[in-house]
Amino acid sequence: MTHPLAVAFGPLPMPDTNPPRPAIPLPDELMASLLSILGPRGIVTDPSDLEPHLSDWRGLYRGASPALLRPASTEELAACMRLLHAAAIPVVPQGGNTSMVGGAMPDESGRQVILSLSRMNRIRDLDPVDMTMVAEAGVVLKTAQDAAAGAGCLFPLSLGAEGTATIGGVLSTNAGGNTTVRYGNARDLMLGLEIVLPDGGVIHGLRRLRKDNTGYALRHLMVGAEGTLGIVTAAVLRLFPRPRAEAIALCAVESEDAALALFRRFRDRDETAVRAFEYMSGNGMEMVLRHIDGATLPLSERADHYVLVDLASSRPDADLRGLMEAVLEEALEAGEVLDAALAESEAQRHAIWRLREEHPEAQKKEGASVKNDVSVPVSKVPEMIRRCSAALQALIPGSRPVPFGHMGDGNIHMNLEQPEGMDAAAFLARSHDIMDCVNDIVRDLDGSFSAEHGVGRLKPDMLAEWRGGAELDAMRRIKAALDPKGLLNPGKVLPA
Ligand SMILES: Cc1cc2nc3c(=O)[nH]c(=O)nc-3n(C[C@H](O)[C@H](O)[C@H](O)COP(=O)(O)OP(=O)(O)OC[C@H]3O[C@@H](n4cnc5c(N)ncnc54)[C@H](O)[C@@H]3O)c2cc1C
Repeated sequence: MTHPLAVAFGPLPMPDTNPPRPAIPLPDELMASLLSILGPRGIVTDPSDLEPHLSDWRGLYRGASPALLRPASTEELAACMRLLHAAAIPVVPQGGNTSMVGGAMPDESGRQVILSLSRMNRIRDLDPVDMTMVAEAGVVLKTAQDAAAGAGCLFPLSLGAEGTATIGGVLSTNAGGNTTVRYGNARDLMLGLEIVLPDGGVIHGLRRLRKDNTGYALRHLMVGAEGTLGIVTAAVLRLFPRPRAEAIALCAVESEDAALALFRRFRDRDETAVRAFEYMSGNGMEMVLRHIDGATLPLSERADHYVLVDLASSRPDADLRGLMEAVLEEALEAGEVLDAALAESEAQRHAIWRLREEHPEAQKKEGASVKNDVSVPVSKVPEMIRRCSAALQALIPGSRPVPFGHMGDGNIHMNLEQPEGMDAAAFLARSHDIMDCVNDIVRDLDGSFSAEHGVGRLKPDMLAEWRGGAELDAMRRIKAALDPKGLLNPGKVLPA
Protein backbone atom coordinates (compact mmCIF):
# COMPACT_ATOMS: atom_id res chain seq x y z
CA MET A 1 0.00 0.00 0.00
CA THR A 2 1.30 3.47 -0.80
CA HIS A 3 1.38 5.77 2.19
CA PRO A 4 -1.22 8.52 1.76
CA LEU A 5 1.27 11.33 2.13
CA ALA A 6 3.46 9.76 -0.51
CA VAL A 7 0.71 10.57 -2.97
CA ALA A 8 0.78 14.22 -1.95
CA PHE A 9 4.48 14.92 -2.07
CA GLY A 10 5.99 12.49 -4.47
CA PRO A 11 7.64 9.20 -3.66
CA LEU A 12 8.36 9.57 0.04
CA PRO A 13 10.34 6.55 1.21
CA MET A 14 7.70 5.34 3.64
CA PRO A 15 8.00 2.18 5.72
CA ASP A 16 5.44 0.26 3.74
CA THR A 17 6.84 1.28 0.36
CA ASN A 18 10.55 1.40 1.08
CA PRO A 19 11.48 -0.36 4.31
CA PRO A 20 14.71 0.73 6.02
CA ARG A 21 17.78 -1.23 5.08
CA PRO A 22 19.87 -2.65 7.91
CA ALA A 23 22.16 -0.02 9.38
CA ILE A 24 25.61 0.08 7.78
CA PRO A 25 28.14 -0.02 10.64
CA LEU A 26 30.66 2.81 10.79
CA PRO A 27 34.21 1.83 9.72
CA ASP A 28 36.16 0.36 12.68
CA GLU A 29 38.83 3.04 12.62
CA LEU A 30 36.27 5.86 12.63
CA MET A 31 34.33 4.17 15.41
CA ALA A 32 37.48 3.88 17.52
CA SER A 33 38.28 7.57 16.99
CA LEU A 34 34.72 8.62 17.89
CA LEU A 35 34.87 6.46 21.01
CA SER A 36 38.10 8.05 22.08
CA ILE A 37 36.48 11.50 21.79
CA LEU A 38 33.07 10.73 23.25
CA GLY A 39 33.68 7.83 25.61
CA PRO A 40 31.27 4.89 25.86
CA ARG A 41 28.39 7.09 27.16
CA GLY A 42 28.64 9.21 24.07
CA ILE A 43 27.86 6.57 21.44
CA VAL A 44 24.73 4.45 21.21
CA THR A 45 24.70 1.51 18.77
CA ASP A 46 22.45 -0.98 20.55
CA PRO A 47 19.36 -1.43 18.31
CA SER A 48 16.89 -1.27 21.20
CA ASP A 49 18.42 1.99 22.48
CA LEU A 50 18.37 3.43 18.96
CA GLU A 51 14.74 2.44 18.41
CA PRO A 52 13.00 5.58 19.82
CA HIS A 53 15.17 7.75 17.57
CA LEU A 54 14.17 6.01 14.34
CA SER A 55 10.53 7.06 14.02
CA ASP A 56 8.86 10.46 14.24
CA TRP A 57 6.08 11.86 16.42
CA ARG A 58 3.43 11.65 13.71
CA GLY A 59 4.43 8.13 12.69
CA LEU A 60 5.10 9.17 9.10
CA TYR A 61 8.68 7.92 8.81
CA ARG A 62 10.91 5.14 9.94
CA GLY A 63 14.65 5.30 9.33
CA ALA A 64 17.79 3.31 10.04
CA SER A 65 21.07 4.44 11.57
CA PRO A 66 24.35 2.85 12.65
CA ALA A 67 24.82 5.11 15.68
CA LEU A 68 23.56 7.94 17.83
CA LEU A 69 26.28 10.33 18.95
CA ARG A 70 25.88 12.17 22.24
CA PRO A 71 28.69 14.70 22.71
CA ALA A 72 28.98 16.34 26.12
CA SER A 73 30.59 19.57 24.90
CA THR A 74 31.00 21.82 21.88
CA GLU A 75 34.63 20.73 21.60
CA GLU A 76 33.67 17.05 21.50
CA LEU A 77 31.04 17.75 18.86
CA ALA A 78 33.45 19.78 16.71
CA ALA A 79 36.04 16.99 16.87
CA CYS A 80 33.42 14.41 15.83
CA MET A 81 32.22 16.59 12.96
CA ARG A 82 35.77 16.93 11.62
CA LEU A 83 36.06 13.12 11.50
CA LEU A 84 32.61 12.54 10.03
CA HIS A 85 33.21 15.24 7.42
CA ALA A 86 36.48 13.65 6.37
CA ALA A 87 34.78 10.24 6.13
CA ALA A 88 31.74 11.74 4.29
CA ILE A 89 29.24 10.33 6.81
CA PRO A 90 25.84 12.11 6.80
CA VAL A 91 24.61 13.51 10.12
CA VAL A 92 21.02 14.14 11.27
CA PRO A 93 20.62 16.46 14.28
CA GLN A 94 17.79 15.37 16.56
CA GLY A 95 16.43 17.35 19.52
CA GLY A 96 13.22 16.24 21.26
CA ASN A 97 12.04 14.56 18.03
CA THR A 98 8.69 16.37 18.09
CA SER A 99 8.96 17.65 14.52
CA MET A 100 5.64 17.63 12.68
CA VAL A 101 7.42 17.29 9.31
CA GLY A 102 9.88 14.44 9.90
CA GLY A 103 12.77 16.92 10.16
CA ALA A 104 14.83 14.90 12.65
CA MET A 105 14.54 11.48 11.01
CA PRO A 106 17.44 9.58 9.45
CA ASP A 107 16.50 8.13 6.07
CA GLU A 108 16.23 4.45 5.16
CA SER A 109 19.76 4.11 3.75
CA GLY A 110 21.16 2.99 7.11
CA ARG A 111 24.14 5.34 6.62
CA GLN A 112 23.05 8.46 8.49
CA VAL A 113 24.36 9.03 11.99
CA ILE A 114 21.97 10.67 14.47
CA LEU A 115 23.31 13.49 16.60
CA SER A 116 21.69 14.24 19.95
CA LEU A 117 22.72 17.12 22.18
CA SER A 118 20.78 15.74 25.14
CA ARG A 119 23.95 15.71 27.28
CA MET A 120 24.52 19.38 26.50
CA ASN A 121 21.68 20.47 28.73
CA ARG A 122 23.17 23.12 31.00
CA ILE A 123 21.91 26.61 31.52
CA ARG A 124 25.28 28.30 31.42
CA ASP A 125 24.16 31.71 32.58
CA LEU A 126 21.07 33.68 33.52
CA ASP A 127 21.32 37.44 33.87
CA PRO A 128 18.29 39.39 35.11
CA VAL A 129 20.00 42.71 34.33
CA ASP A 130 20.78 41.91 30.71
CA MET A 131 17.55 39.85 30.69
CA THR A 132 19.33 36.97 28.96
CA MET A 133 19.79 33.26 29.46
CA VAL A 134 22.57 31.23 27.89
CA ALA A 135 21.17 27.75 27.36
CA GLU A 136 22.75 24.74 25.71
CA ALA A 137 20.90 23.18 22.81
CA GLY A 138 19.80 20.09 24.75
CA VAL A 139 17.90 22.09 27.39
CA VAL A 140 14.21 21.15 27.24
CA LEU A 141 12.00 24.18 26.55
CA LYS A 142 10.00 23.73 29.76
CA THR A 143 13.26 23.62 31.77
CA ALA A 144 14.29 26.94 30.21
CA GLN A 145 10.88 28.44 31.07
CA ASP A 146 11.18 27.20 34.67
CA ALA A 147 14.72 28.52 35.04
CA ALA A 148 13.59 31.95 33.87
CA ALA A 149 10.62 31.87 36.26
CA GLY A 150 12.94 30.85 39.11
CA ALA A 151 14.87 34.08 38.53
CA GLY A 152 11.68 36.14 38.48
CA CYS A 153 11.74 36.45 34.67
CA LEU A 154 9.85 35.03 31.71
CA PHE A 155 11.05 33.04 28.73
CA PRO A 156 7.85 33.29 26.75
CA LEU A 157 8.12 30.64 24.02
CA SER A 158 5.28 28.21 24.72
CA LEU A 159 3.95 25.26 22.71
CA GLY A 160 2.18 21.95 23.17
CA ALA A 161 5.44 19.96 22.97
CA GLU A 162 7.33 22.16 25.45
CA GLY A 163 7.96 19.26 27.86
CA THR A 164 10.01 17.48 25.18
CA ALA A 165 11.15 19.98 22.53
CA THR A 166 14.63 21.39 23.05
CA ILE A 167 16.23 24.81 22.65
CA GLY A 168 18.24 23.48 19.67
CA GLY A 169 15.05 22.18 18.06
CA VAL A 170 12.87 25.25 18.63
CA LEU A 171 15.56 27.54 17.23
CA SER A 172 16.30 25.29 14.27
CA THR A 173 12.60 25.24 13.34
CA ASN A 174 11.99 28.88 14.34
CA ALA A 175 9.07 27.60 16.41
CA GLY A 176 6.07 29.83 17.01
CA GLY A 177 3.41 28.69 19.45
CA ASN A 178 0.86 30.38 21.64
CA THR A 179 2.54 33.66 22.54
CA THR A 180 3.98 34.71 19.16
CA VAL A 181 1.38 37.45 18.88
CA ARG A 182 3.02 39.21 21.86
CA TYR A 183 6.66 38.07 21.92
CA GLY A 184 7.42 36.91 18.38
CA ASN A 185 8.69 33.49 17.33
CA ALA A 186 11.93 31.75 18.33
CA ARG A 187 14.01 33.99 16.07
CA ASP A 188 12.82 37.08 17.92
CA LEU A 189 13.83 35.52 21.23
CA MET A 190 17.44 34.82 20.23
CA LEU A 191 20.36 37.25 20.50
CA GLY A 192 23.35 35.02 19.81
CA LEU A 193 24.29 31.46 18.88
CA GLU A 194 27.17 29.06 19.20
CA ILE A 195 27.27 26.92 16.06
CA VAL A 196 29.29 23.94 14.86
CA LEU A 197 29.60 23.89 11.08
CA PRO A 198 29.47 20.71 8.97
CA ASP A 199 33.29 20.60 8.73
CA GLY A 200 33.73 21.04 12.48
CA GLY A 201 34.42 24.78 12.46
CA VAL A 202 32.96 26.59 15.46
CA ILE A 203 31.25 30.00 15.38
CA HIS A 204 31.50 31.49 18.88
CA GLY A 205 28.55 33.85 18.64
CA LEU A 206 27.15 33.83 22.17
CA ARG A 207 26.95 37.61 22.26
CA ARG A 208 24.26 39.03 24.49
CA LEU A 209 24.01 42.26 22.53
CA ARG A 210 20.81 44.02 21.64
CA LYS A 211 22.66 45.75 18.80
CA ASP A 212 25.32 44.00 16.73
CA ASN A 213 25.52 44.91 13.05
CA THR A 214 28.78 43.19 12.21
CA GLY A 215 28.52 41.54 8.83
CA TYR A 216 26.13 38.81 7.77
CA ALA A 217 23.87 37.71 10.62
CA LEU A 218 24.85 34.04 10.46
CA ARG A 219 22.87 33.39 13.63
CA HIS A 220 19.67 34.24 11.78
CA LEU A 221 20.63 31.97 8.90
CA MET A 222 20.75 29.05 11.32
CA VAL A 223 17.34 29.81 12.86
CA GLY A 224 14.75 27.94 10.78
CA ALA A 225 17.43 26.08 8.77
CA GLU A 226 16.22 22.82 10.34
CA GLY A 227 19.71 21.51 10.95
CA THR A 228 20.79 21.67 7.30
CA LEU A 229 23.46 24.40 7.62
CA GLY A 230 25.00 24.00 11.07
CA ILE A 231 24.44 22.56 14.52
CA VAL A 232 23.23 24.91 17.23
CA THR A 233 25.08 24.05 20.44
CA ALA A 234 24.02 26.97 22.67
CA ALA A 235 22.03 30.17 22.46
CA VAL A 236 21.62 33.51 24.15
CA LEU A 237 17.88 33.83 24.75
CA ARG A 238 15.93 36.98 25.55
CA LEU A 239 14.05 37.15 28.81
CA PHE A 240 11.15 39.41 29.76
CA PRO A 241 9.63 40.68 32.99
CA ARG A 242 7.33 38.04 34.42
CA PRO A 243 3.60 38.72 34.21
CA ARG A 244 2.10 40.03 37.44
CA ALA A 245 -1.45 40.45 36.18
CA GLU A 246 -3.45 38.09 33.97
CA ALA A 247 -6.99 37.75 32.61
CA ILE A 248 -8.25 34.89 30.50
CA ALA A 249 -11.63 34.42 28.84
CA LEU A 250 -13.35 31.94 26.60
CA CYS A 251 -15.81 33.59 24.22
CA ALA A 252 -18.43 32.22 21.90
CA VAL A 253 -18.36 34.51 18.86
CA GLU A 254 -20.86 35.01 16.09
CA SER A 255 -18.57 34.26 13.12
CA GLU A 256 -14.98 34.14 11.90
CA ASP A 257 -15.28 37.87 11.12
CA ALA A 258 -16.51 38.52 14.65
CA ALA A 259 -13.44 36.72 15.99
CA LEU A 260 -11.18 39.01 13.98
CA ALA A 261 -13.18 42.08 15.01
CA LEU A 262 -12.71 41.09 18.65
CA PHE A 263 -8.96 40.69 18.14
CA ARG A 264 -8.82 44.20 16.69
CA ARG A 265 -10.76 45.61 19.64
CA PHE A 266 -8.22 44.20 22.12
CA ARG A 267 -5.25 45.17 19.98
CA ASP A 268 -6.50 48.71 19.51
CA ARG A 269 -7.16 49.14 23.22
CA ASP A 270 -3.84 47.72 24.48
CA GLU A 271 -1.69 45.74 22.06
CA THR A 272 0.91 44.92 24.69
CA ALA A 273 -1.66 43.18 26.89
CA VAL A 274 -2.60 40.50 24.33
CA ARG A 275 -0.48 37.45 25.17
CA ALA A 276 -2.50 34.99 23.07
CA PHE A 277 -5.57 35.09 20.86
CA GLU A 278 -6.64 31.63 19.75
CA TYR A 279 -9.49 30.64 17.46
CA MET A 280 -11.39 27.34 17.75
CA SER A 281 -14.25 25.98 15.67
CA GLY A 282 -17.46 24.42 16.96
CA ASN A 283 -16.37 21.08 15.44
CA GLY A 284 -13.06 21.08 17.32
CA MET A 285 -14.68 22.09 20.61
CA GLU A 286 -17.24 19.28 20.28
CA MET A 287 -14.41 16.76 19.85
CA VAL A 288 -12.57 18.08 22.92
CA LEU A 289 -15.75 17.93 25.03
CA ARG A 290 -16.48 14.40 23.77
CA HIS A 291 -13.03 12.84 24.20
CA ILE A 292 -11.04 14.72 26.84
CA ASP A 293 -11.61 13.69 30.45
CA GLY A 294 -12.87 16.53 32.60
CA ALA A 295 -13.27 19.01 29.72
CA THR A 296 -16.37 21.17 30.18
CA LEU A 297 -17.65 24.24 28.38
CA PRO A 298 -17.94 27.16 30.79
CA LEU A 299 -20.63 28.78 28.61
CA SER A 300 -24.40 28.35 28.61
CA GLU A 301 -24.66 27.23 24.98
CA ARG A 302 -22.59 25.61 22.25
CA ALA A 303 -21.49 27.80 19.34
CA ASP A 304 -19.90 27.48 15.90
CA HIS A 305 -16.92 29.68 16.75
CA TYR A 306 -14.90 30.35 19.89
CA VAL A 307 -11.88 32.41 20.87
CA LEU A 308 -9.57 32.21 23.83
CA VAL A 309 -8.38 35.65 24.91
CA ASP A 310 -5.31 35.69 27.15
CA LEU A 311 -4.18 39.05 28.54
CA ALA A 312 -1.05 39.53 30.63
CA SER A 313 1.02 42.41 31.94
CA SER A 314 4.13 42.83 34.03
CA ARG A 315 2.44 45.78 35.79
CA PRO A 316 0.85 44.51 39.01
CA ASP A 317 -1.66 47.37 38.87
CA ALA A 318 -2.71 46.69 35.27
CA ASP A 319 -6.47 46.36 35.42
CA LEU A 320 -6.70 43.52 32.92
CA ARG A 321 -10.00 42.28 34.23
CA GLY A 322 -11.41 45.78 33.70
CA LEU A 323 -9.97 45.83 30.19
CA MET A 324 -11.37 42.37 29.44
CA GLU A 325 -14.84 43.28 30.70
CA ALA A 326 -14.94 46.61 28.89
CA VAL A 327 -13.94 45.17 25.52
CA LEU A 328 -16.24 42.15 25.83
CA GLU A 329 -19.14 44.41 26.75
CA GLU A 330 -18.60 46.50 23.61
CA ALA A 331 -18.34 43.36 21.51
CA LEU A 332 -21.50 41.90 23.09
CA GLU A 333 -23.37 45.07 22.24
CA ALA A 334 -22.03 44.93 18.69
CA GLY A 335 -23.29 41.35 18.38
CA GLU A 336 -19.80 39.94 17.84
CA VAL A 337 -19.59 38.07 21.13
CA LEU A 338 -22.51 35.81 22.05
CA ASP A 339 -21.33 34.69 25.47
CA ALA A 340 -18.13 34.81 27.50
CA ALA A 341 -16.64 33.24 30.64
CA LEU A 342 -13.81 34.88 32.56
CA ALA A 343 -11.48 32.66 34.57
CA GLU A 344 -11.69 33.43 38.28
CA SER A 345 -8.87 31.17 39.45
CA GLU A 346 -5.71 29.43 38.32
CA ALA A 347 -7.71 26.21 37.97
CA GLN A 348 -10.21 27.91 35.66
CA ARG A 349 -7.43 29.50 33.61
CA HIS A 350 -5.90 26.07 33.18
CA ALA A 351 -9.28 24.53 32.28
CA ILE A 352 -9.88 27.12 29.54
CA TRP A 353 -6.40 26.67 28.06
CA ARG A 354 -6.91 22.92 28.14
CA LEU A 355 -9.89 23.25 25.79
CA ARG A 356 -7.50 24.70 23.25
CA GLU A 357 -4.42 22.57 23.95
CA GLU A 358 -6.31 19.28 23.72
CA HIS A 359 -7.45 19.88 20.14
CA PRO A 360 -4.76 17.63 18.57
CA GLU A 361 -5.45 14.80 21.06
CA ALA A 362 -9.23 15.05 20.64
CA GLN A 363 -8.87 14.97 16.87
CA LYS A 364 -6.73 11.86 17.11
CA LYS A 365 -9.38 10.14 19.26
CA GLU A 366 -12.15 11.15 16.86
CA GLY A 367 -10.51 9.37 13.92
CA ALA A 368 -8.22 10.13 11.00
CA SER A 369 -7.38 13.72 10.17
CA VAL A 370 -5.18 15.61 7.73
CA LYS A 371 -3.17 18.56 9.07
CA ASN A 372 -2.44 21.83 7.28
CA ASP A 373 -0.27 24.34 9.20
CA VAL A 374 -0.90 27.42 7.07
CA SER A 375 -0.69 31.17 7.44
CA VAL A 376 -2.27 34.14 5.68
CA PRO A 377 -2.24 37.87 6.41
CA VAL A 378 -4.24 38.37 9.63
CA SER A 379 -6.93 40.32 7.77
CA LYS A 380 -7.61 37.27 5.58
CA VAL A 381 -8.02 34.64 8.29
CA PRO A 382 -11.86 34.68 8.26
CA GLU A 383 -11.98 34.36 4.47
CA MET A 384 -9.40 31.56 4.56
CA ILE A 385 -11.33 29.57 7.16
CA ARG A 386 -14.63 30.04 5.34
CA ARG A 387 -13.34 29.23 1.87
CA CYS A 388 -11.26 26.25 2.97
CA SER A 389 -14.10 24.82 5.08
CA ALA A 390 -16.58 25.05 2.20
CA ALA A 391 -14.13 23.67 -0.37
CA LEU A 392 -13.12 20.76 1.88
CA GLN A 393 -16.72 19.80 2.61
CA ALA A 394 -17.47 19.89 -1.11
CA LEU A 395 -14.39 17.76 -1.77
CA ILE A 396 -15.29 15.11 0.82
CA PRO A 397 -18.97 15.29 1.79
CA GLY A 398 -19.49 14.68 5.48
CA SER A 399 -15.89 15.57 6.39
CA ARG A 400 -15.47 17.96 9.30
CA PRO A 401 -13.15 20.98 9.09
CA VAL A 402 -11.37 21.64 12.39
CA PRO A 403 -9.65 25.00 11.99
CA PHE A 404 -7.95 26.20 15.17
CA GLY A 405 -4.89 28.09 16.29
CA HIS A 406 -3.05 31.32 16.44
CA MET A 407 -5.49 33.79 14.89
CA GLY A 408 -3.50 36.78 16.07
CA ASP A 409 -0.57 35.61 13.91
CA GLY A 410 -2.68 34.63 10.90
CA ASN A 411 -1.63 31.01 11.57
CA ILE A 412 -4.47 28.50 11.54
CA HIS A 413 -4.18 24.71 11.64
CA MET A 414 -6.68 24.10 8.84
CA ASN A 415 -7.21 20.44 9.71
CA LEU A 416 -9.84 18.12 8.30
CA GLU A 417 -11.42 15.23 10.22
CA GLN A 418 -12.77 12.20 8.40
CA PRO A 419 -16.56 11.81 7.93
CA GLU A 420 -18.14 9.78 10.72
CA GLY A 421 -18.18 6.11 9.78
CA MET A 422 -15.79 6.49 6.82
CA ASP A 423 -12.88 4.08 6.56
CA ALA A 424 -9.81 5.91 7.89
CA ALA A 425 -7.49 4.58 5.17
CA ALA A 426 -9.91 5.61 2.43
CA PHE A 427 -10.04 9.10 3.94
CA LEU A 428 -6.25 9.37 4.28
CA ALA A 429 -5.86 8.26 0.69
CA ARG A 430 -7.36 11.68 -0.16
CA SER A 431 -4.59 13.55 1.74
CA HIS A 432 -3.13 14.83 -1.49
CA ASP A 433 -6.42 16.36 -2.63
CA ILE A 434 -7.10 17.80 0.83
CA MET A 435 -3.73 19.56 1.09
CA ASP A 436 -3.95 20.83 -2.47
CA CYS A 437 -7.44 22.13 -1.79
CA VAL A 438 -6.23 24.14 1.23
CA ASN A 439 -2.98 25.25 -0.37
CA ASP A 440 -4.71 26.58 -3.50
CA ILE A 441 -6.82 28.90 -1.37
CA VAL A 442 -3.92 29.86 0.92
CA ARG A 443 -1.82 30.73 -2.11
CA ASP A 444 -4.61 32.83 -3.54
CA LEU A 445 -4.63 34.75 -0.24
CA ASP A 446 -0.84 35.38 -0.32
CA GLY A 447 -0.21 32.89 2.47
CA SER A 448 2.32 30.17 3.26
CA PHE A 449 2.13 26.36 3.14
CA SER A 450 4.07 26.09 6.41
CA ALA A 451 3.56 28.68 9.11
CA GLU A 452 5.52 27.26 12.04
CA HIS A 453 6.28 23.55 11.56
CA GLY A 454 8.86 24.01 8.80
CA VAL A 455 9.59 21.97 5.68
CA GLY A 456 11.51 18.96 6.99
CA ARG A 457 11.25 15.83 4.97
CA LEU A 458 7.53 16.19 4.32
CA LYS A 459 7.40 19.35 2.25
CA PRO A 460 10.55 19.97 0.14
CA ASP A 461 8.49 19.50 -3.02
CA MET A 462 6.16 22.25 -1.85
CA LEU A 463 9.18 24.49 -1.26
CA ALA A 464 10.17 23.97 -4.89
CA GLU A 465 6.68 24.84 -6.03
CA TRP A 466 6.18 27.90 -3.80
CA ARG A 467 9.67 29.35 -3.51
CA GLY A 468 11.20 28.38 -6.87
CA GLY A 469 13.33 30.60 -9.10
CA ALA A 470 15.87 32.99 -7.62
CA GLU A 471 14.72 32.37 -4.02
CA LEU A 472 15.30 28.61 -4.11
CA ASP A 473 18.46 29.10 -6.14
CA ALA A 474 19.88 31.39 -3.43
CA MET A 475 18.99 28.80 -0.76
CA ARG A 476 20.81 26.09 -2.72
CA ARG A 477 23.91 28.28 -3.04
CA ILE A 478 23.96 28.98 0.70
CA LYS A 479 23.69 25.24 1.39
CA ALA A 480 26.49 24.48 -1.07
CA ALA A 481 28.73 27.14 0.49
CA LEU A 482 28.33 25.91 4.08
CA ASP A 483 27.90 22.20 3.45
CA PRO A 484 29.52 21.45 0.07
CA LYS A 485 29.46 17.69 0.65
CA GLY A 486 25.74 17.81 1.56
CA LEU A 487 26.30 15.87 4.77
CA LEU A 488 24.14 17.78 7.23
CA ASN A 489 20.53 16.58 7.44
CA PRO A 490 20.37 15.48 3.80
CA GLY A 491 16.95 15.28 2.15
CA LYS A 492 15.42 17.93 4.42
CA VAL A 493 14.14 21.38 3.42
CA LEU A 494 15.66 21.59 -0.08
CA PRO A 495 14.15 19.45 -2.83
CA ALA A 496 16.50 16.88 -4.37
C1 LIG B 1 1.94 18.25 20.44
C2 LIG B 1 2.82 19.15 19.62
C3 LIG B 1 2.53 20.51 19.58
C4 LIG B 1 3.33 21.36 18.82
N1 LIG B 1 3.03 22.68 18.81
C5 LIG B 1 3.81 23.52 18.09
C6 LIG B 1 3.52 24.92 18.08
O1 LIG B 1 2.56 25.41 18.68
N2 LIG B 1 4.36 25.72 17.38
C7 LIG B 1 5.44 25.22 16.69
O2 LIG B 1 6.16 26.00 16.08
N3 LIG B 1 5.71 23.90 16.67
C8 LIG B 1 4.93 23.04 17.34
N4 LIG B 1 5.19 21.70 17.32
C9 LIG B 1 6.31 21.18 16.50
C10 LIG B 1 7.63 20.96 17.29
O3 LIG B 1 7.41 20.86 18.64
C11 LIG B 1 8.60 22.07 17.03
O4 LIG B 1 8.97 22.02 15.68
C12 LIG B 1 9.88 22.05 17.90
O5 LIG B 1 10.56 23.23 17.62
C13 LIG B 1 10.82 20.89 17.63
O6 LIG B 1 11.78 20.80 18.68
P1 LIG B 1 12.59 19.44 18.94
O7 LIG B 1 13.62 19.68 19.96
O8 LIG B 1 11.63 18.34 19.20
O9 LIG B 1 13.30 19.24 17.54
P2 LIG B 1 13.34 17.95 16.60
O10 LIG B 1 11.95 17.55 16.25
O11 LIG B 1 14.21 16.92 17.17
O12 LIG B 1 14.05 18.58 15.33
C14 LIG B 1 13.43 19.57 14.56
C15 LIG B 1 14.40 20.04 13.48
O13 LIG B 1 15.47 20.76 14.07
C16 LIG B 1 16.72 20.11 13.79
N5 LIG B 1 17.51 20.22 15.01
C17 LIG B 1 17.22 19.77 16.25
N6 LIG B 1 18.16 20.13 17.12
C18 LIG B 1 19.09 20.82 16.42
C19 LIG B 1 20.32 21.47 16.76
N7 LIG B 1 20.80 21.48 18.01
N8 LIG B 1 21.02 22.08 15.78
C20 LIG B 1 20.56 22.08 14.51
N9 LIG B 1 19.42 21.50 14.13
C21 LIG B 1 18.68 20.87 15.09
C22 LIG B 1 16.38 18.70 13.39
O14 LIG B 1 17.36 18.17 12.52
C23 LIG B 1 15.04 18.91 12.69
O15 LIG B 1 15.22 19.34 11.38
C24 LIG B 1 4.41 20.83 18.07
C25 LIG B 1 4.69 19.46 18.12
C26 LIG B 1 3.91 18.63 18.88
C27 LIG B 1 4.26 17.18 18.91
